[in-house]
Amino acid sequence: MTSLMFLGTGGGRFAAILQTRATGGIYLFIEEPSGRTRHFHIDPGPGALVRMLARELSPLQTDAILVSHCHPDHYADAEILIEGMTDGGNKKQGALIAGRSVLEGIGDFGPSISKYHKAKPAIVKSVSPGDGLDLFGIKVESTFSAHSDPSSVGFRFHTPKGIVGYVSDTALDERVVQAHEGSRILILPVTRPLGMPIPYHLTVEDAAKIAGAVKPELTILTHFGMRVIKDGPPRAAEWIQNKTGVRTVAAEDGMVVDIGDELRIS
Ligand SMILES: [Zn+2]
Repeated sequence: MTSLMFLGTGGGRFAAILQTRATGGIYLFIEEPSGRTRHFHIDPGPGALVRMLARELSPLQTDAILVSHCHPDHYADAEILIEGMTDGGNKKQGALIAGRSVLEGIGDFGPSISKYHKAKPAIVKSVSPGDGLDLFGIKVESTFSAHSDPSSVGFRFHTPKGIVGYVSDTALDERVVQAHEGSRILILPVTRPLGMPIPYHLTVEDAAKIAGAVKPELTILTHFGMRVIKDGPPRAAEWIQNKTGVRTVAAEDGMVVDIGDELRIS
């Protein structure tokens, strides 16, 4: 089964520091046509390891770790999870895919993964918007992000059950919309509530503009900042759904989306 599990739905500094919501990132299981399932861990923030173990997922089974940019709510647990993916550092296996700042450092940003850990996986690759990779026969694209880390990316997974688009932290930008056209599922980070913008992040209104333009089968909101959590993320989802006509849900910690011919949320 191809599916998504939300190991965390918090984002921004204070929701992460105080763990108002978990910040373990997203786990994506993709079933290959052969029947084998590959495990992708996207943006493992603080507590990702503990959140995984609490959900009975084994860090030893991860095939790829993807880090969008160099902010700790997206990368904090990456090193220990690389150790898991590589069987304690003993087997050169798995893939580490990340924005350039994460692996190489750019200006004041990063690198956020040590040389020791970069030497462990079989595949280590810095990506820029527009890059396409073949990971275990699955196409994974890196998408444009307008964020304070200038090398930030989003990701787009071409699963046998349609495209899953992950928009990472970004300002509203036409290039983000273009990069995610054709997504069946669109995951959007909603850090700020209606009418309360801050630079480089999406408000509820911005998320509605992207969802309304991309028109996926399902929009999933996540990466909630403190103010959004206080207002109630389901209210944000309802607002976006009413505005766009696109089915929209607010993710909860531990939420699972089964991606078959139909989408089942539990
Ligand atoms: Zn960020």
